[in-house]
Amino acid sequence: MSEPAARNFFPNREAPVGIRTFLVLAVLLFVAGQVAAEVPASNTLVKAGRLVDPRTGTVISPAAVLIENGKIKEVGPASQMQTHAAGDVKTIDVGSATLLPGLIDSHTHLFLDIIVPPELEQQRHSNGLFAPGMLLAVIESPSKRVLMGAQAAREDLESGITTVRNLGHSGIDGDTELRDAINAGRVVGPRILASGRKLITRSDYVQNLNPALADAILEQEFLLIDGTDRARQAVRQNEFQNVDVIKVAADENLTVPELGAVIEEAHRKHLKVAVHAVDKTSIQTSIDAGADSIEHGNEATDAQLKQMHDKGIFFDFTPTSYGDFFTKIFDGTIAMSLKLRPERRGSDERTRQRYNDLAQQLLKGAEFPDASDESRDRVYDSLVQRVMKSGVKFAAGSDMGWFYPGKTRGEASISRFPTLHKAGMPSLDVIRAITTNAAEMLGWQDKVGAVEPGKFADLVAVAGDPIADITELERVRFVMKNGEVIKNEDGAR
Ligand SMILES: [Zn+2]
Repeated sequence: MSEPAARNFFPNREAPVGIRTFLVLAVLLFVAGQVAAEVPASNTLVKAGRLVDPRTGTVISPAAVLIENGKIKEVGPASQMQTHAAGDVKTIDVGSATLLPGLIDSHTHLFLDIIVPPELEQQRHSNGLFAPGMLLAVIESPSKRVLMGAQAAREDLESGITTVRNLGHSGIDGDTELRDAINAGRVVGPRILASGRKLITRSDYVQNLNPALADAILEQEFLLIDGTDRARQAVRQNEFQNVDVIKVAADENLTVPELGAVIEEAHRKHLKVAVHAVDKTSIQTSIDAGADSIEHGNEATDAQLKQMHDKGIFFDFTPTSYGDFFTKIFDGTIAMSLKLRPERRGSDERTRQRYNDLAQQLLKGAEFPDASDESRDRVYDSLVQRVMKSGVKFAAGSDMGWFYPGKTRGEASISRFPTLHKAGMPSLDVIRAITTNAAEMLGWQDKVGAVEPGKFADLVAVAGDPIADITELERVRFVMKNGEVIKNEDGAR
């Protein structure tokens, strides 16, 4: 076959020897590839005491998952799968553990590593509590950041997070490059949906900077929206970089036409738009413009939840500050003065009291106070319960970007999800928020989020029953991504 083909390429003369050799080799490699494809694929059978299907809530016990070429081929009772697993099958038995789909963190910031600034800096510099840490471009090179991001990605995966949606703060191309490096097998990490630079208006971040230098710094992290043309241009810049999703931060400066232009442009390229919106006005802008998901959504009213429900907009919970998260971070990273320490403790207690009362009122239908107040736990409880009641589609993300002393990035991220249960979400729904629901929000429902035939073989196992004790998620013992074992603490074979 090779000789005539070569002659066709060079009709008037013999092909040079080098090229002929190349063509012969190419054909040989092609044939070799065909032979390899005919060899039976290597199968893996993962056996476990239990398997929870988040979609239906059903439990199979004992269960097994048959995997072929990194994808799930079949799921069912262990005895049945054993008979289907014919031929050369590698068995991994995780004992009495419970299998779940690999977890999805649908809102994270792998390239942030915010360390709370010392007390005096917070008091004397008017650059906001976390602003220096959120603008790492000021002090760290892109190379340094991408290596740090790679570590955070590996730590996420080791804790059971097999897919993340990274929503900004990655420098210009940190997240798209890390995604490609992971996909190419150069770095170990979860599947990444990368947003590239976050689209913002000229507001918060800008006001924290030296005006003479602001734009040069901002360009390293953000794309500015200023009118509908600029909004479309920003989306196209990110498209050119091959992002998977568009992230916008809505605030009172962002208009419905501007956000509408972003969304129209993104949808033309089949990209979803995730909008950071905390206050009531921004949430309304996001709803009116037709966002795909609203991130945070803290001040959503019941009327807004109904509109989100009717439009099919996802609510993405980020219970990052729930509980004493920040006090714990303060404890480990800054030397608190004798004055600040009791103040923090006292303010935790006072806000707890204050928001207890407020939450009661909210549950009775009162309006959220027009506040820039940080929303606190009890308000969050009412939010969680109202979202659940509204029937709006929901998912959850850690919004992790902080350095948490004593925890890896993965441990810090996962620690946020059981708080949703504390806030009143049933355990199974917490699991759905970071598996099946998240996959749908990401538009990856055909790829991840469930242990079902055809999906990637992304699995985790915990020792106990996560429905009875949702904190089991914080102790993932076994992680598989794409059919490959990433972690196996019990040494199961
Ligand atoms: Zn965020």
